[in-house]
Amino acid sequence: MKFISTNRKSPAATAKTAVMTGLAPDGGLYLPAQMPALPGSLSEGLEHAAFSEVCFETSSLFLKEECPAAELRSIAEDLSRFEPVLKPLSGNSFVLELFHGPTLAFKDYGARFMAHLMSFFNRGENTELTILVATSGDTGSAVASGFHLVPGIRVVILYPSQKVSPLQEKQLTTLGGNISALEILGTFDDCQRLAKEAFLDIELASRLRLTSANSINIARLIPQSFYFIYAAALLKRLHGRRHEPVVFSVPSGNFGNLTGGIIAKRLGLAASKFIAATNANDVVVNYLKTGQFKPRASVRTLSNAMDVGNPSNFVRLLELYHHDHRQMNADIFGAAFDDEQTKQCIRDVFKSCHYPLDPHGAVGCLGLSAFLGTAASGCAGIVCETAHPGKFIEVMQETIPGAVALPPILAEVLSKEKSSVVLDPQFEELKAFLLS
Ligand SMILES: *Cc1c(COP(=O)(O)O)cnc(C)c1O
Repeated sequence: MKFISTNRKSPAATAKTAVMTGLAPDGGLYLPAQMPALPGSLSEGLEHAAFSEVCFETSSLFLKEECPAAELRSIAEDLSRFEPVLKPLSGNSFVLELFHGPTLAFKDYGARFMAHLMSFFNRGENTELTILVATSGDTGSAVASGFHLVPGIRVVILYPSQKVSPLQEKQLTTLGGNISALEILGTFDDCQRLAKEAFLDIELASRLRLTSANSINIARLIPQSFYFIYAAALLKRLHGRRHEPVVFSVPSGNFGNLTGGIIAKRLGLAASKFIAATNANDVVVNYLKTGQFKPRASVRTLSNAMDVGNPSNFVRLLELYHHDHRQMNADIFGAAFDDEQTKQCIRDVFKSCHYPLDPHGAVGCLGLSAFLGTAASGCAGIVCETAHPGKFIEVMQETIPGAVALPPILAEVLSKEKSSVVLDPQFEELKAFLLS
């Protein structure tokens, strides 16, 4: 299996090159060159599939030439420690909990899978690999947790001082070991600029093995197809829904999660529709309506992990649909919602189903309702619940007081001592740190 760039100006790459470099040399994002079919155990036999089997079989389709089966099995076993849970919400609606990983958000699947693959491809190298990540909050903690204590790899996180939540900051700064947190006296944009400068610096390149671990890495995309396939298995096995068409509602920001779902469909998953549910950052929803893609600056919302004005995975979606707006509309239904609607949905669903949706899941739930309002009935709808509501405890307290407690794993993080290195947003400071 080779991986091709969305810009089509770079040669096809091996999985190792695609994973270790992230971005293609022509600036495009990697996609699999082919979409092989799921094996029988995940098509006709899907009803009986375990999560580890879904992970193993699906990752084998893309990686088996470069990564031995025993390795892929052990990665699959590791991801199974936080397998997704499918719960009925009401009638034909279900919620797919993707937040049982160490940082309580779906990004744990991608981050952990990427950490395993990078570590595998890094074996046999004599020098340490340094992974540099700029974060505005959640990505950094998932990446840090995924790579924590992985031998041969050091992770350096850049985050903007005072601009991440206290909980996010503790998640970034309390791991220790091979994880260093650099607290930049500037904005998220400063952090991104510093990381970019580091990747372009010739001296750093000659003295360190430096790579990024951001969300565009193909190793984060592949595992985001697993749980769509597994959810369809659970729907049949646990909930007896063997024949209904399945629709997935995906609360979206950079559209990596949704792209994972579309890949699952290309591999053969029987899903009749994907719903791209967004907050006020609705450039993709507008594209679906008008055929015009107009990126713009992001605005802040309650579902802040989706506050993205120029979604990085949109180019992958365009490529997957041959830049044809009608083809994309045939698979994807888009809908956008504001913060008031999000809070109302949290209240309504808690009242009627006793289920506390987090703000991101609530946007997904609104998207499903909007779609079911337009569609013939008889579909089973699955809302991806991308984070534990306890991560947004202030919003939850205000919206459905008393319904959600801080999860123990987060309470424990909050009680730990912060350890960070404070730097001015100057490249020379970062460089000196990296070389020290
Ligand atoms: C990152 C994130 C999203 C958005 O996922 P994309 O793949 O960027 O579309 C949604 N919800 C939560 C909780 C997230 O952390």
